[in-house]
Amino acid sequence: MSLADILGDGGALSRTFDGYESRPQQLEMAHAVDAALAHGTPLLVEAGTGTGKSLAYLVPAVRSGLRVVISTATKALGEQIMQRDLPTLARLGLPADATLVKGLSNYVCLRRLDDHRRAAATGKVRADGALTRVLDWVDHTDSGDRADLADVSDDAPVWRDVTSSSETRIGQRCQFFDRCFVTRMRRKAEASKIIVTNHHLFFADLALRQNPGGQALPDYDAVIFDEAHALEDIATEFFGVRVTRARIDGLARDATRAFDHAGLLKDPSRALTLTRVLATLADASDSMFRTLPRPRAESSRTFLRPESLEGDLGRAMRSLRSALTELCDQAREFVTLGDALLSVTRRADTTCEALDRIANPMPQAFVAYTDVDARGGGAVAAAPVEIGEMLKAQLWSRTKAVVLTSATLATSGERGFQFIRGRLGVPEDADSLQLASPFDFPTQAALYVSATLPEPRDPEFLAAAAREVRALVDVTGGGAFLLCTSVRAMRAFAEELRGRWPYETFVQGEAPKNVLLQRFREAHDAVLIATSSFWEGVDVPGHALRLVIMDKLPFDSPDDPVVASRIQRLTDAGRSPFAEYQLPSAALALKQGFGRLIRTRRDVGIVAILDRRLVKRGYGRSLLAALPPASRCHSIEEVSAFWAHASSATEEDFPRSTQGTNVPVRA
Ligand code: SF4
Repeated sequence: MSLADILGDGGALSRTFDGYESRPQQLEMAHAVDAALAHGTPLLVEAGTGTGKSLAYLVPAVRSGLRVVISTATKALGEQIMQRDLPTLARLGLPADATLVKGLSNYVCLRRLDDHRRAAATGKVRADGALTRVLDWVDHTDSGDRADLADVSDDAPVWRDVTSSSETRIGQRCQFFDRCFVTRMRRKAEASKIIVTNHHLFFADLALRQNPGGQALPDYDAVIFDEAHALEDIATEFFGVRVTRARIDGLARDATRAFDHAGLLKDPSRALTLTRVLATLADASDSMFRTLPRPRAESSRTFLRPESLEGDLGRAMRSLRSALTELCDQAREFVTLGDALLSVTRRADTTCEALDRIANPMPQAFVAYTDVDARGGGAVAAAPVEIGEMLKAQLWSRTKAVVLTSATLATSGERGFQFIRGRLGVPEDADSLQLASPFDFPTQAALYVSATLPEPRDPEFLAAAAREVRALVDVTGGGAFLLCTSVRAMRAFAEELRGRWPYETFVQGEAPKNVLLQRFREAHDAVLIATSSFWEGVDVPGHALRLVIMDKLPFDSPDDPVVASRIQRLTDAGRSPFAEYQLPSAALALKQGFGRLIRTRRDVGIVAILDRRLVKRGYGRSLLAALPPASRCHSIEEVSAFWAHASSATEEDFPRSTQGTNVPVRA
């Protein structure tokens, strides 16, 4: 079967699935991916929402006979590929040997579970119902994937103590190695042609490959990155280092347990020393994380400059490092008493190395910073300022057939892919393809830019913007996302709005993201106030989401140390950071935010941007040009008229209960 026989008009997909509509854009993308895989050439594809891009790359990937890694930014897309798209192809006679490879923290570690079980049996940790359920389930599960145990929530504390990680996994020396879920998953992946994973694990694998013998994925012939707009941030994280309070606390907990199981805490000749070493580590960690500067600006991150290391923070980091060294030395003396002690020495060692890299970042190439998030979690970290050169060495030179695709890769104009090419070090010879969405945007969506509000920096902005939000939400009767560019703005809007209108209001952080989304979908007329984590990768098709409001243009905060370093680097090179970095970056983020609204051919809705700079500043034109061609509204009255017309047409044609459910293949 040719690609057209499968994806084209009257092809196998349309014959097999009622309601499946072939799309020329999808077929064009499939041909381009097919050629990239066949010739081993890199390819960039921007495919607007609704193109059906997952099938457009899966069909050529499965037919190629190559081992292809499909990497996604979100778990949801990886699961959709495994549970919906690949089975769809199997029904067409294109079965694929495929394995879903998740990050290690998704799998139960039998060694850690055994340690935890023993600690619970002796009363060292509290044995709760969640542990009992995990122990029951682990005897029956084939996968060991925590997502398969639905009645223990994803954020239950037990997972922290019983799941695997690159730090805690000790490999072939482990007594559980052959039964280990991670080992089994990797063996399955080695026998598969299609490996579905996520960007985090893909880059963890690239980072591991810098050491001889290190890898998390089997060798592959080609890689396809979906949701490739997220690559830069994720790669930056993985080529950097980070020491968090959770990492130190977890190590201290596991070390205590390992010493205890080895009988050392009951050994009078050892107990005193080990107890002191553990107490010193706890004190040093507490003191270092308490010393982290509270962020003053919109970013949670603050520069960690050499002069900061001469003060309290530097002293606290050195104390933590010496406490870790002492722990490592003590554990090393007893590694013959158990695998867990070997794991402790390795983790303490790598944490010391990370602290050294943070205290002495490679000049110009890396930036060190502290990070204190809204919930008070703390970290010290170092990240590469640019990852283009690293990707050239680690990715582009190693694998020829690399496909990058997303609904948002290109800015407006002829040089649309220039930005992403530069940021990710894409080879010159990479082809590119830009495919418009098949949706009828002028009919399905309206774009309203509030031109009369004060500028976002104006002290009057919040109150005026909140009034505008109320008016807009009244037009659609709820069903709205209010996407803010900072946590501070999110909280301020929540304060202004919640309880002062009849709409159920959810605020990011009050429950896990998937729970909030579920509640939002079920409520139909709710409002969700959130920041960047809802700005992309969120799929709410149908009537539940019919209004997306963005408070400001999503320029990255110049207070962020990584962003500031990138700006500085371009300035030093005599280039324009605004034109070459900040503006294109904001254009892609804006497009992502817009992309939350129209998810199927049947969706209708409004995007409202409360930032007048979009129409008052010269650069606004290029931002507007990058957005889908929605109808433009210039007042709330025009928004209201658009909605009255669009929603009545939708009600007639597509009753609410069926919206978003009867199109088998979406974006
Ligand atoms: S091999 Fe690693 S992940 Fe598997 S049980 Fe042992 S320590 Fe845990």
